[in-house]
Amino acid sequence: MAHVITQRCIDEKDQSCVAVCPVDCIHPSSDMDDPAEFELAPQLYIDPEVCIDCGACIPECPVDAIFYIGDLPAAFHDAIDTNRRFYQNRPS
Ligand code: SF4
Ligand code: SF4
Repeated sequence: MAHVITQRCIDEKDQSCVAVCPVDCIHPSSDMDDPAEFELAPQLYIDPEVCIDCGACIPECPVDAIFYIGDLPAAFHDAIDTNRRFYQNRPS
């Protein structure tokens, strides 16, 4: 399981979640990653292989974009694949 970021993050990208994640599993960020990658990404994504389900990011998000997978509304189910695919295609 993991937490996922939904499309509510699109155009917001304020990175409040990045600042509190204890395992740095939210990318791309302007500090940890290539700034160009951050600028080009439509939203941020959570690495499902690294997230420890601490929940710290959820209350930080100003647009309520982050959900525990088990609580994800049906309208956002595609976010599970969207988050996973970002890390499958990304050089580590
Ligand atoms: S639930 Fe915790 S570990 Fe997972 S992305 Fe949010 S802050 Fe990071
Ligand atoms: S806090 Fe919410 S809107 Fe801001 S970058 Fe994280 S998921 Fe996106």
